[in-house]
Amino acid sequence: MTKEQVETVSGDETEDFAAIFAARLRAGDVVLLAGDVGTGKTTFVRGAGRALGIVGRVTSPSFAIGAVYDATGIEVAHLDLYRLDSIGTSDGAVIEDFVSPQRITFIEWPHDELVELDRLRAIVTLRHVGGDSREIEVEWVDERPEAAPEK
Ligand code: ADP
Ligand code: MG
Repeated sequence: MTKEQVETVSGDETEDFAAIFAARLRAGDVVLLAGDVGTGKTTFVRGAGRALGIVGRVTSPSFAIGAVYDATGIEVAHLDLYRLDSIGTSDGAVIEDFVSPQRITFIEWPHDELVELDRLRAIVTLRHVGGDSREIEVEWVDERPEAAPEK
C-alpha cells in the first residue's frame, strides 16, 4: 500500500482533492470511504464524481443503498452501507449488484471484509481534526500481479 495524507479546511477543498484523486482511477476500480458521520465522505465522492464527468449533484442515497450515475465514458456507482446491518443483507450480495468492469464504485461505511475485494483500488479515511479541518488519508492498493499466462 502507498499512503498519502492531506489536510483540507473546507468542503470545497476536499472536493478539489478528490478530483485530483479521481484522475488516477480506471473503470472497474472500487474505492472504500471510511470516517465518522460528517467527515466528508459524500463530499469526497461528489468531488471525484464531478471530475469523472457526472452532471448534477451527488447526494447521500438516503433511502436506497446506492445510486449509479452516468459520467464521461463510464458509470459511477455510489453506495452507502450505513443502514445495511438493519436490512440484514450481506455486503457481498449488494456489492455484486453494483460493482462492474465498466464502473468506478465508491462505497461509504464498508464493512471490514470488503478490503478483500478483488477490484479494491484505494481506501480513503477521513477524520475530524477541529472546526472545518479534515485529515484525509489515501491508501492505494498495490497493483495486483497479472494472472499467469495459460500454457
Ligand atoms: P459524510 O458523508 O462523511 O457523513 P458529508 O460529506 O455528507 O459527510 O458532510 C460533510 C459536511 O461537512 C458537509 O456539510 C461539508 O460542507 C462540511 N465540511 C466542512 N469542512 C469540510 C472539509 N474540510 N471536508 C469535507 N467536508 C467539510
Ligand atoms: Mg455520507
